[in-house]
Amino acid sequence: MIYSPFRHIGSVFNKHNLIHLTFFLTKRCNASCPFCFYHSDIDSKDREQELSLNEIKKISRSMGNLLWLAFSGGEIFLRKDIVDITKVFYENNKPSIILFPTNGLLPEVIKAEIEKILKHCSRSTIALKLSIEGMEGIHEKIRGKGSFKKTIQTYESLKMLLDEYPNFELGVNTVFCADNQDGMAELIKFVSGLDGIKTHTVSLIRGDVLDDGLKKIDMQLYRKTVDLLASNLKNKQSSIYRFKGAKLKAAQDILQRNIICETVSSNKQQIPCYAGKLNIVLTESGDVYPCESFDMKLGNVRDSGYDIDNIISSEGAKKAINSIQEKGCFCTHECYLMTNILFNPSMYPSLIKEYLQL
Ligand code: SF4
Repeated sequence: MIYSPFRHIGSVFNKHNLIHLTFFLTKRCNASCPFCFYHSDIDSKDREQELSLNEIKKISRSMGNLLWLAFSGGEIFLRKDIVDITKVFYENNKPSIILFPTNGLLPEVIKAEIEKILKHCSRSTIALKLSIEGMEGIHEKIRGKGSFKKTIQTYESLKMLLDEYPNFELGVNTVFCADNQDGMAELIKFVSGLDGIKTHTVSLIRGDVLDDGLKKIDMQLYRKTVDLLASNLKNKQSSIYRFKGAKLKAAQDILQRNIICETVSSNKQQIPCYAGKLNIVLTESGDVYPCESFDMKLGNVRDSGYDIDNIISSEGAKKAINSIQEKGCFCTHECYLMTNILFNPSMYPSLIKEYLQL
């Protein structure tokens, strides 16, 4: 039986337990996408800074049960110990969902590693998201020559695992940017026709990216895109993940994208942010931040006995975390909006309204 996401319902009322960890496993990448905000090349010396498996074990032991463990990078499958790292968190933190975002450029490695993970972590939902930025021409303009076919090859080999492993979820993520905003309708149709793909998320470009021109987006096109994703869900033209609570997650996705539109048009925080209270970010070199804006370092695990609690309970960290509400900072980061919606009772009427239409 999968670890139920509803184990964390207490966090609706009590925001004292971290339930969502984003762990940047590596900065290294085998691509150099112009919209990336976290990157170094494949042979970079950054590798020497990466936390070892032993260090990761100590960090994981310092944390409680997780609802959501999201790996990030860099290309996460460049870490040769990704299976062992996942096992460590699985044993110590019993995550309900573990997210593996990947550019899909290493088909054999990804299939072999994810199958080992599926076998071992049978009580967690293993969600793998492939990056597809557009139809072949657009995708390769952004992610490099030959990348589209490789990612589709990865999809073909992973889809064979879906029947055997009911805890496996396969999805696609697209970064909405200036170079692909005109081709979204075609891409959404293409992805909804891919057998076994249960969710297609579209993330709005964010952060300090390599090519700032990609941030010149047309919000009307984004609005059209999110409306199309929502109507496809409501008309059952696109499917929903299989795990318990997936319909709630789909309702939250719709709500979240509406909030993003409002945030961008008003340049204001729309709902309270629980960064540092329910969510935390750990980098490959051990830095700890409340969120991916990376402008509020709380400490480094190597200086704090590998204990995340030591870091977030220091006076400095508490002050920084509390200042998030006072400052009312805002962003469009989808993963953080997820907890900000699901754990905020004032959002429930809107959430239920969306849920009932699915
Ligand atoms: S609103 Fe965004 S930038 Fe501000 S703390 Fe929350 S996640 Fe970070």
